[in-house]
Amino acid sequence: MSWRRGRMAAMVCGFTGPCPSCNRGTMNPASFSQAALRGIRGRCPRCGEGRLFRKWLKPQTQCSACALDLLPQRADDFPAYIAMIVTGHFMAPLIIALAVDYELGPVAMLAIAVPLAIVMMLGMLQPAKGGVIATQWWFGMHGFVRERLPEAPSQDESSR
Ligand SMILES: [Zn+2]
Repeated sequence: MSWRRGRMAAMVCGFTGPCPSCNRGTMNPASFSQAALRGIRGRCPRCGEGRLFRKWLKPQTQCSACALDLLPQRADDFPAYIAMIVTGHFMAPLIIALAVDYELGPVAMLAIAVPLAIVMMLGMLQPAKGGVIATQWWFGMHGFVRERLPEAPSQDESSR
């Protein structure tokens, strides 16, 4: 699929990567949510084809499909904060429900809550980091080049 898209891009304007003048033939996401979803799924936010990570939390230096330079990403600790906030908001009502409704003791509570929290946080780190990298790319932060397609004119402007 990516090979065919790449060939089609080359046929349209001569660029196999994103064309700076016509922007056709690229696989740029149409919206921020699409770019973020690609990052959350561990795919390149620009093309959605190349893998974003070479190890668990180690991003590629460059996309293997569209050659997007991923070195400018600066996710730092933000994915960990996202994972903690989401896990905390999920765990707090669960712990309250377990304590109030089932009247579990502290040992049983720890046996349920701690492994669940660890699994949730570790499982959320890579998608959160992918989402953060996609966000940075979409908004052209930290040295990423802002590459989004020009926005379509609104209904009022196009009808005039
Ligand atoms: Zn790519």
